[in-house]
Parts: sequence; C-alpha cells; structure tokens
Amino acid sequence: EGEALSRKLLSLKGAESKTVAIIGGGLSGLACAKYLVDAGHKPIVLEARDCLGGKVSAWKDKDGDWIETGLHIFFGAYPNMMNLFSELDIEDRLQWKRHQMIFAMQELPGEFTTFDFLEGIPAPFNFGLSILLNQKMLTLPEKLQTAPALLPMLVEGQKFIDLQDELSVFNFMEKYGMPDRINTEVFIAMAKALDFIDPEKLSMTVVLTAMNRFLNETDGLQMAFIDGNQTQRLCEPLKQYIEARGGKVLCDKPIASIETNADGSVSSFLLRDGEHIVADEYVSSVPCDIIKRILPRAWSTDPFFRQIDELEGIPVINIHLWFDRKLLNVNHLCFSRSPLLSVYADMSTCCKEYEDQDKSMLELVFAPCSPIAGGSVNWMGKSDEEIIQATMKEMERLFPTEIGPQLPDGGAKLVKHAVVKVPRSVYAAIPGRNKFRPSQETPIKNFTLAGDWTSQKFLGSMEGAVLAGKLAAEVVACKAAGEPTKGLKKIDPSILKKKDEFVPK
Ligand code: FAD
Repeated sequence: EGEALSRKLLSLKGAESKTVAIIGGGLSGLACAKYLVDAGHKPIVLEARDCLGGKVSAWKDKDGDWIETGLHIFFGAYPNMMNLFSELDIEDRLQWKRHQMIFAMQELPGEFTTFDFLEGIPAPFNFGLSILLNQKMLTLPEKLQTAPALLPMLVEGQKFIDLQDELSVFNFMEKYGMPDRINTEVFIAMAKALDFIDPEKLSMTVVLTAMNRFLNETDGLQMAFIDGNQTQRLCEPLKQYIEARGGKVLCDKPIASIETNADGSVSSFLLRDGEHIVADEYVSSVPCDIIKRILPRAWSTDPFFRQIDELEGIPVINIHLWFDRKLLNVNHLCFSRSPLLSVYADMSTCCKEYEDQDKSMLELVFAPCSPIAGGSVNWMGKSDEEIIQATMKEMERLFPTEIGPQLPDGGAKLVKHAVVKVPRSVYAAIPGRNKFRPSQETPIKNFTLAGDWTSQKFLGSMEGAVLAGKLAAEVVACKAAGEPTKGLKKIDPSILKKKDEFVPK
C-alpha cells in the first residue's frame, strides 16, 4: 500500500514545479519534502533546532555518547516506512529481530515469557498460535473469553475499529465481559508502549488498530531497530535525497509566525530572525500543540482549525543507563510490565552503533509519567536524580541477579545516565479524539498540514508521520497537476455547534 501512493506521486511529475515551504524537519516534514521532489516540486524544509528528526532526533553529549529522544521500534506492519527505506536504498540499516514478543513476568522477578511467531504460518494463524502456545501469561479459559470481544474486529474490520474510539480500553473490556487479567497481563503493557498512557485513559481504537495490523500481516509484529542514531542514519539520507533533486533542508530556522494575505491565504512564513520565506505552497508538519500556538489570527475562528484544540500531546521520558558490565544479554525489545516503565532494550546488544561486548547501555521509556497519562505523580516536574532513583528501583526487580545492593558485590554499577523529557510527544489518544484529527488538506488554498497527529490510519507513530507527510505531498502535487484531491475531512458537529462562540485569538 505504500508503493501505490509513491507511484501516484511520481506520476504527477510534469505539472508546473512549485516552491513549497515546510515547517518542521521531523519525519513527517522530511517525508513530505521527499515525495514532493519525486513529484517534481522544490521544497524547502525549515527546522527550528540544530538537528533533524524531531521526536526521533539524537545528539552527542560531552563524552561523545549519542542521546536519543526516544527508543524507537520499526514494525513489519509499517508499509510506508518500509517503502521509504527501500526508496532511499538503506534497507540494510534495519536490524530485524526474532519474530517474537518478550514480556517480563510480573510475579516472578527476573523471569521473562515470550510469544513466538512460527515461521511459515500465515497471519492471522501465527498470531493466534503464538497466544495459544504461551502458557505463562493467560489461562486457556481467559484466552477463550477474549475471543468473542475480538471477533467483530475480524468480521467488520476498520469500521468496527473506528466506532470503538469513544470507549476507553477499560470501557470496552467491561462492555464485552473480558476478564480483568487481560488488562493486567496484556493491555497495560500495550497501552504504555503504544501511547505512553494507562488503559483507563486510552481509546480502544488504538489497541484494535494495532492488533488488526498484526492479525492481517504475517510479518506485521516483527520488530526492527535502526542500526544507529536516526538523525544520521535516516534523516541524513532523506536530506541528501531531497537536496540532490533540487530541494533544501535547513536547520536553525525557527518559524515565528504564519503571515496571511487579505483573503486568508499564506503570504509568507516569518522566521524568528525576521526573514520572510515566500513560496507557492506552504506546509506545516509541527506537532498539534505547536500549530495551535502559531495559527494566524485570521484562521482562529475557523472550525477546521479550532478542532485542533481537542488534541494535545502526551508527556513521556526516555532514559539511558550505562552500566559497568554486561547485563542479561537479550537481543530484543522487552516489555517491562513494571509500574513506571514501559518498554526497554539493551542498545549495546540490539543496535550496531552502540554495540559493546562488555558493558550494557539500556534505553527505557518511562511511562505513564504524569496524571494526564494516568500516572499518580507528575514526573515531568521531578529532577533527573529522582527519576533515575525510581527507575533503578524498578531495575532491581527486573534484574534481581544483576542489579541491587543485596548482591554480594553490590551488583552492576550505574556509571552514567541521561534523561530526555518530552513534555508533548504523540497526541494523547484518549477516547473520542480520532474525529478531531484534521485532513492534510485545509480550507486555506495554499496551506497543507502534515504531522503524525493529522488524519491517517496509523496512530501517532513513525509510520503515521511518514504517511501524513506523503498525504500532504499528494495534496500539493494533485493541486499543482489540476487533479482532484481527496477533499477536506468532515468537521465533527460538536465543533460546528460552537462556531459562533469562537473568538479571534
Ligand atoms: P516531530 O518529530 O515532532 O517533528 C516536528 C518538527 O517540527 C520537530 O523537528 C520540531 O523541532 C519542529 N518545529 C517545531 N516548532 C517549529 C517552528 N516554530 N519552526 C520550525 N520547526 C519547528 N513511533 C514508532 O513508530 N515506534 C516507536 O517505537 C516509537 N517510540 C517513541 C518513543 C518516544 C520516547 C517518543 C517521544 C516517540 C516515539 N514514537 C515512536 C513516536 C514517533 O517518534 C513520532 O510519532 C514521530 O517521530 C513524529 O514525527 P513528526 O514529524 O510528526 O513530528
């Protein structure tokens, strides 16, 4: 499905070439620019920071160690991302792991259980079999009790999935009489990994969307790590591809405002240094929390833009821990299933660039990390030391034979740590949000939206960011070629009802 859209964009080449200014050098802005050059246009990407990548960005600390904004996993069920790697000819940078999922056992510190996907068995049978074969997490009656709740998804597909957006994972379980242990054993881990929040806060559509992809694609759940930091290993090839075909990718170019003409169309992007960037078309790929802040006053009463008020980013923390020795050698992502942590991986084993035979470097996602995400403590307001102390307590439970003061030599020593707080990461997929995600096409004739939070069938994810960027490129390229676009997404009646109350901001 990624290929078809790529082909369409290539086929639109030949129309009058447009200059397109794009705010944001994350995956969505870069993907948008990549597909615009494919369609024969001249994008200029304007990134505020000194490095590319946004939520996948990485930078070196004073010791020369890479610090990443987030631990990132690529799935087989990421068609647009896989397609992009192949178009950039960098597929060999994906380090595919064994087709399995690894969960820490909650009652048995230090022990893990796996769901294994057997080779040669097609979807959805490989998924079903992996669940049936795992004897440690759920009993057979519990597994059987879950099946009727998931049956409508298999029969009705996306339509059923979309309708569940008004329900939280909790509400859905109650409605379908699912056993509580499904939540404690599986859904908490899934919710924290997919959206950094707890299941009582998360929309059921998110869980079902992920499950549906995994059930429909034989390699859907297979995971890969990129072989190094994404700023250099993925964003740089994107920049080179764009620039080799006449586009530009510039860092240290923060946009201060979007300037408009009398008819409401964009006249320029005003940079913080006072420079005006003038183009034929304009795209924003910044997160929902930022676009709300830079929307021109002239658009601030338009329901299309006011629906974005209903979306906001969720906080999350990415932690790096360097140890004086090698811990248990697991070459995969692990679901920690501990209260403060979500997934983690030993990057010294999983990722080529960070490879170290003697010492472990773990990356861990700390979630939920605030009351908005379902946690009881606002960890975003805590110091790095407090966060590391709480993390190490959970590490002692996850690695009881390797970490902790009870061990004869005091256990593995933490030699260094880094804490990256992301106050607003992906949009919070709480119930009822999908209907407010706007189309890439907007009511403004020369302005298009991108970003993982805009309307597309994937969640706030790398795949969602690439697809949204590609869809934004499609809007611009179709308009340039005089081809019909998909049109504006319908605005929810709850927003239209408030239309007269909106005051210019
Ligand atoms: P962003 O990456 O936020 O890009 C927006 C860009 O706009 C940024 O570079 C920003 O600096 C720039 N910008 C902002 N304001 C301005 C301005 N005024 N002027 C110019 N530029 C501006 N996804 C997965 O698929 N798998 C995972 O395992 C995964 N794990 C994650 C773990 C963590 C800890 C985090 C934080 C995210 C994770 N994600 C994961 C989500 C994924 O990173 C995002 O969905 C994706 O990278 C978003 O891309 P984007 O381009 O839409 O937005």
